[in-house]
Order: sequence, then structure tokens, then C-alpha cells
Amino acid sequence: MHLEFYGGAGEVTGSCHILIVGGRRLLLDCGMIQGGAAPDERNRAPFPFDAAQVDAVVLSHAHIDHCGRLPLLRKRGFRGPVYTNPACRDLARILLADGAAMSERDAERVNRKREKAGDARRVEALYTLEDAMAAIELMRVVRYGKPAEVLPGVEVTFRDAGHILGSASVWLTLREDGVERRLVFSGDVGQYDSPILRDPETGPAADLVLMESTYGDRLHRSREATLEEFGGILRAARRDGGNVLIPAFAVGRTQEILYELAMHFEAWELGDWQVFLDSPMAIETSEVYWKHAELFDEEAQAWRARLRSLPPLPNLKLCRSPDESMAINRITNGAIVIAGSGMCTGGRIVHHLKHNLARPECDVVFSGFQAQGTLGRAIVDGRDYVRIHGSPVKVAARVHTLGGFSAHGDQRDLIRWHSGIPGRPPVWLVHGETAAAEGLRDALRGEGVRAEVAVPGATLDLAAVQPGIAH
Ligand SMILES: [Zn+2]
Repeated sequence: MHLEFYGGAGEVTGSCHILIVGGRRLLLDCGMIQGGAAPDERNRAPFPFDAAQVDAVVLSHAHIDHCGRLPLLRKRGFRGPVYTNPACRDLARILLADGAAMSERDAERVNRKREKAGDARRVEALYTLEDAMAAIELMRVVRYGKPAEVLPGVEVTFRDAGHILGSASVWLTLREDGVERRLVFSGDVGQYDSPILRDPETGPAADLVLMESTYGDRLHRSREATLEEFGGILRAARRDGGNVLIPAFAVGRTQEILYELAMHFEAWELGDWQVFLDSPMAIETSEVYWKHAELFDEEAQAWRARLRSLPPLPNLKLCRSPDESMAINRITNGAIVIAGSGMCTGGRIVHHLKHNLARPECDVVFSGFQAQGTLGRAIVDGRDYVRIHGSPVKVAARVHTLGGFSAHGDQRDLIRWHSGIPGRPPVWLVHGETAAAEGLRDALRGEGVRAEVAVPGATLDLAAVQPGIAH
């Protein structure tokens, strides 16, 4: 009975761990590696195990760094079941289809370039839409709180992780040769008191916790301060004229922003704005969110019941077609435009930035982390000019960063979540950059918890872990 740390150990993306119980192999997540050195090459590299020998997968949530290589796993011979929450399957369908489209576009671009240069070599898309849908077909849904035997000797129970819709922490009971161990895989843990979603749940006592550490060394700005700032920006923007651009991540962040706009419709004087959700993927994702209102927290359920129909704002316009998106470019004043991508690396937000960034009366509101090398980061870093579609564009608009909208819990949230597990079991930290994982390790040790940072490729003998001992 052992656990091998693979992806997501020592870095934030590519979550994937292998559990071997009674000679069978179970994967915990099968995520895509994003960012860092040569991610495409690393994603294409052979798995450090035989895909055809994997018996089942447990999927914590639909973010691409947790499910993005499932199509590849299937393409390479995996045919077993993928256990996950129903809402996670609905979101994964959208995200994997988008990933396939991107991968096919990238491959086409490379091949066109090579053809022009007289290079006969061709690349294949990492996976196609067909591969993505075949992976979705393997998914078997399990609701929160309902134990399921996923392999002989392996029982799992999903609990709401409060991170994105359908996200789960997984409680596993493992039995082999009369030995029983209880393992918890945290998945990604959300913030407490965040809108729409319920607070992260915990469950019964365990022997060992495999825990994420994305923001393990940081504290987020409070939700109240963030909302106050957001409202202030919108009120000032209405007074000063111009448009407000919100680069948004399609899953989670967009729905939170729409929710906060609806909840503060009067207070933030939103009545005479036109609000545009300009992203087919974010629209589709929002529809999945509203469809699964049974997963909302109490406040959001009451709001949803009161409202009855969609969209959630009286002056919200959903822009699906490119024509509807381009029509926004003619508006110079009074438009709030929510469009992807969240880091401005592509998508419709880039066109809106091109039209508004040089205008001092406009505002750009970032709501999430901007990675090195992205257009979003260049704007946030305060550059005077940025390059858009090959041309320099002056940055004259006011630029704001809202700190409290993260889908991830911070150090305090992660420690609070862990303290909800009876016996305060020992922790192995994964899914965080080294500084974040070490920061959380030290904080947990300060609380008297035994904590280690997982090393990629290392194997942990679960039978040797002392059962039920709090340190
Ligand atoms: Zn996530």
C-alpha cells in the first residue's frame, strides 16, 4: 500500500499522484502542467507509469491543472472509470473542449509556420475534441458525502472543497492484507465565507493528509475590504465617464463578480451601466453554475430562488458571437465589460484593451494573479506602453488589482481546514511552489502538526504510517 508523488509536488500545476493498493493503481487527478519551463514538452512526455495499467482515477475538480491530461491518459490506453462530482463533470466538459480547441489551434499554427519554412515535420495537437469527449465518457459521478468503492479495498467519499463548483476534497479508506489506512486528498481548498459556494468541508479522522499549499505562505486581503474597493472603483468610474474592463477567469471568478454586481446593484449604483459578459466559455460555465444551485451556500440559494430567471443582472448582456463582441467597441462610455482571458494572454479582452487602455477615463480591474510574461502582468506592473497585436499601446487607463477574489484559501484558511479533521493528522504538502509549501509546513509545525513537503518522485509506504496518531 503506497503513494507516489508525481506532478503537483514542488509546483502549482500538473496535479497527479499514484496510489497503489492491493496491486491496483489509482490516480488522484491527472492535471496539465502550465507555465514554467517547456510545459508543452513536459505534457507530451510519457507518463512515468503505463496508462493502460491504471485501474481508476479520482478527480478532485475541473480546473485544467487537475483534469487536463485525462484525454491524453485515455489516448495512451487508460479505459477505467474516472470518479468525480456531477458538477465537476459538467465543467470538465467545457474546460477540456476549450483545451482541445487551443491545442488544435497551436498545432495548426506551428504546422503552417513549418510548411512556409519548407520544414516537412508536423506536430499533432496534444489532444483533440474527440479525445476530450472520450475522457468525459469515462466519468462516473459520485455525490458529496456518499461513500463509493472505486476499487477493491478502496472506498472514497467526496466532500465540498469550496474552491470552484463541484470541487472536492477526497476521504479515502484503503484496505490491504488486514491493514487499514485513512488518507485525505485535499484537492484545492477554497476560501471561507466566499460568495456562492459553501465553506470548505472536512470529514472524519484520518491517518494522513495530502494537502495543497498554493497560498501556503500568504494571507489574502479581506472580502469586505475588497468589495468596498470594487464598489468605490465603479462609483468613481461612473462619475468620470469611460468604460470599465474586467479581465476574468471563466470558471469561478466570473460568476463571483456577476454575483457581487447583482448583490450590490443599488449600493454601487449600477442601474445606468451596460454590463457585458463577453465570453462564450464564461457564459457556458455560468449556465452550469446556475444549473447546480443545490450546491450554493444559503445566501446564494435565497438569491437564486428570489430571482428565478437568468441572467442575474437586469442590464447584463451575454455576448456569444464575435459580432456582438465587436459592437462593444463602439461604446465609449458606461460599459462594464467582463471578458477573458483572465491574464489577457488571448481572448476578447485583448481587443477591448486595444480600444480602451490609452483612454485616461477608463478603468481596468484585475481580480486575480497575473503570471510573469503575460499582458496582464505588464499592465499591472505599471508599464507606460504595452504591445497589443504587435503595436505599442499607451497605458493611460486607471489600473486596479482586487486582492480578495482568490478561489484558493490562504494560509489561515488552510490551517483552519486542517484543524477541522479530528486528531490533526500528519500532513504531506503538495501543489505549491517551494516557498509556499515551506511556509505552510512551518506554520503547521508551529501548531504542533507533523508536516513535510512532498518530493516529486518520492514514494510513501502507507502501511508504515502510524494509524490515527496526532503529533
Ligand atoms: Zn483549482
